[in-house]
Amino acid sequence: MRHARGLNAFYRGFESVLVALHPLLKRIGYQRLERPVARIEKSVKGLLFDCRMCGQCILSSTGMSCPMNCPKNLRNGPCGGVRANGHCEVRPEMKCVWVDAFAGSTRIPGGIEALRAVQVAVDRRLQGRSAWLRVVRQRAGEPP
Ligand code: SF4
Repeated sequence: MRHARGLNAFYRGFESVLVALHPLLKRIGYQRLERPVARIEKSVKGLLFDCRMCGQCILSSTGMSCPMNCPKNLRNGPCGGVRANGHCEVRPEMKCVWVDAFAGSTRIPGGIEALRAVQVAVDRRLQGRSAWLRVVRQRAGEPP
């Protein structure tokens, strides 16, 4: 979370590059790209964010703290069971991802406003799919 600002800026830039590549990606075929891109995404984001590949990334709205690491998988948190030391009520050895989310959000311009936005429930059908490709298609106006 200490690097949330830089990571978010990098992520935004990376997303813009991917969106600019949309015509090429479309020509190759999103279906064909899905598996290899998802594999790369899982490696990179797994290393950086302990990503669980939910397929609908909201890191920019959670201070770069992955909400899927919350034992309750809360997309809108915290739950109210945060311990006095900022740790999780389910897994006491673990710091609450939403405490981290708040800390990270304070470092990102507009982060607190983004954190306050209510997130829709996670769509389990997208589990394991590439959130990167999904965002590119959305931003390019492609059907889901
Ligand atoms: S929100 Fe989803 S895609 Fe983003 S890091 Fe967490 S599990 Fe991965």
